[in-house]
Amino acid sequence: VSAMDAPAHLARLAPRELVLARGAALWPTGGTLARVLRAVDGVLRTERDAWEFDAALAGEELARQFRVSSLEGFGFGAHTTEAQGALGALVRYLRDLQPGGLPHLARPIVEHAGAAMPLDDMTRRNLELVESLRGGTEGTVLAVLDETATPMGARLLRQWLLAPLVQRAPIEARHAAVEALLHDPVSRAALRDALDGVRDVERLASKAAASRATPRELRALGDSLARVPRVRELTEGVVQEAQRGGASAGVLATLFGVWDAWSTVGGEVQGALVERPPLQIGDEATIAPGVDAELDDLRATRDGGKDAIATIQAQERARTGIQSLKVGYNRVFGYYLEISNANKHLVPADYQRRQTLTGAERYITPALKEYEEKVLGAADRIELRERELFEALRATVGAEIVRLQAIAQRVATLDVLSALAHVAERHQYVRPTLHDGFDLHIVAGRHPVVERMMPREQFIPNDLALTDDKRLIILTGPNMAGKSTILRQVGLIQLLAQVGAFVPAREARLPVTDRIFTRVGASDNLVRGQSTFMVEMSETSAILHTATARSLVLLDEIGRGTATYDGVSIAWSVSEHLHEAVGCKTVFATHYHELTQLADELRSVRNCTVAVREVGDQVLFLHKLIDGGADRSYGIEVGRLAGLPAPVIARAKEVLALLEGEGAQMAARLTTEGHQAPAGARARGPVARRSATPTGQLGFFGDEPREVVRVEVRDDPVLAAVAERLRALDPDRLTPLEALQQLAALRAQLSVEAGA
Ligand code: ATP
Repeated sequence: VSAMDAPAHLARLAPRELVLARGAALWPTGGTLARVLRAVDGVLRTERDAWEFDAALAGEELARQFRVSSLEGFGFGAHTTEAQGALGALVRYLRDLQPGGLPHLARPIVEHAGAAMPLDDMTRRNLELVESLRGGTEGTVLAVLDETATPMGARLLRQWLLAPLVQRAPIEARHAAVEALLHDPVSRAALRDALDGVRDVERLASKAAASRATPRELRALGDSLARVPRVRELTEGVVQEAQRGGASAGVLATLFGVWDAWSTVGGEVQGALVERPPLQIGDEATIAPGVDAELDDLRATRDGGKDAIATIQAQERARTGIQSLKVGYNRVFGYYLEISNANKHLVPADYQRRQTLTGAERYITPALKEYEEKVLGAADRIELRERELFEALRATVGAEIVRLQAIAQRVATLDVLSALAHVAERHQYVRPTLHDGFDLHIVAGRHPVVERMMPREQFIPNDLALTDDKRLIILTGPNMAGKSTILRQVGLIQLLAQVGAFVPAREARLPVTDRIFTRVGASDNLVRGQSTFMVEMSETSAILHTATARSLVLLDEIGRGTATYDGVSIAWSVSEHLHEAVGCKTVFATHYHELTQLADELRSVRNCTVAVREVGDQVLFLHKLIDGGADRSYGIEVGRLAGLPAPVIARAKEVLALLEGEGAQMAARLTTEGHQAPAGARARGPVARRSATPTGQLGFFGDEPREVVRVEVRDDPVLAAVAERLRALDPDRLTPLEALQQLAALRAQLSVEAGA
């Protein structure tokens, strides 16, 4: 993967540990490791010698580990020597950690860059896919979709959500499978029932391979595998049903087409082990009766001995006349006869005393000892034999790890697909239609999470289209109107569609996008020592560098973390760049009403707003997306709703009236200037505005010309330090992001010193 996409891939994989080549440049051209590693802050990093990453060496290492003569079968293409080298280094490292060998390591799966969409950290977080902004899984898309029945399914669903596909055919194969399952509710219910008892085959199988599965776990694995034939049968039923109706069952059809017959192992394990085996071999039986003749004989001997011991108790009672005499057993003394002190005088001479208690004495006799040896000897041999049989069974099962993992993978896929069908039915999602063109049309789209947080029918669905002549939507509207919700819902519908899921809408005709970007709200990142605005700008810059015409870009409130003019200017130029240079589909939600002018100047920019109705001095939020720009934010009304004191609200209204008066004057002047732009030159509001003198603008904030103080650099140690730093910079060798960072650092240096 490229250095640009690497952080997104790392964030998706959420590794616990990274193994790096010491001192190696991973991206010879431009990518810096430090930047990439920022995506996985706090993850354990292990450095290994660079030679361990050698591809040829790795070839041998891997062939030995996976017992294959060539690595062709893994799907390493001609250009993946780096991946092969890295895998070799990883296996070598693991072997150092586990000198006993790694029999439970499944075969590697090569994932080619380009099959899955890299979702960067901010998009993943902002769309609240698997973790909410507040942390935790509540209120996430995963929580809405996760109707899986097995742990493997749950894990796979999470992986799917974080890796939307970017090719139409495989996506549609998933859609077709979900559709087939959706249209066959009876089989689907039976299937979900059958899946319900399937435990984590993937983990249990690796435990078996590593000789770590307990008797109970091996039985759980057997029970799970025993359900697989039923799962398969039901799946085939769904596939046939779909095909009878003239539809393809997509992924479903390929899932069990080459099913291997080995799934009978479930029955074998069930036959060999008792129904509820203990956690370890020992006192309770693990191996079922009738499985092994030797074991059965030993058990008969042991049980016979036990019977004989019970007979001894009866005989001795009769002989001594002591009715309370009883046979007992403990680990130290073995079997004994216990006689209370009151009957001590009746004890026969051949009893040998072994232990004295407060109220009783314990004795043994030669006959008792003889049987004891038989019983205990048999018990020991039973344990040995059971262990032998169990370990052999576990090894047989463990040796099939590769096939078991393949079964686990299919079961997981089926589980995810039927969960998606279940969700689609329950929440009325539809199958999206994908095409290779540009346009995006959503009819009556909903936000999958927000709609779940309110009673049914209360969520207002919205239509949205992004087409070649309406590529960039400037979305203005009051606070609380639902701008962010619409923005995210577009992103989520597109993303869900590419994951292979149905989508919350009445109709969705969508292109296949190469990337989805969101930059929503101001996410504080003080931990990383960058100002909020700096983070906002770096994220925006990353989008501008990476987006292509096939991307979907969703921006919320870009430019809000700084002074109004700086903010509007940035928002304006970012929009222009996306429209002109990138040409992607964009929705830009903003409170800068100035941006609505873009629609007059750029071909494919349109204004939309979220409707509100004013009733008296109250605002009614309609949550309905309509054409046109908003001229107000109703921020003060929202402030009132939030309980700001009445005098503060009243004063805010006065101030607003004042500012609006000034703004109107300014707008009038700017419009005239715009019209005076020379013919042929593109009349761009802010560009024209830049030449306007700053005096007179929004005088409310004080428009007196600022006093300019000249400071000689060499007189001032702070300025001298900044100047020194500036001189050391080589602008030709900085990326735009690094330049911004340098700029921020320089500014910080100035203000720290000034504040001190
Ligand atoms: P701000 O400009 O203040 O950030 P916003 O316009 O982005 O606000 P949202 O945060 O999207 O507004 O929505 C505010 C609230 O309105 C949501 O939490 C939700 O409860 C409700 N809401 C949003 N969209 C809808 C809808 N389509 N139907 C019903 N309720 C909605």
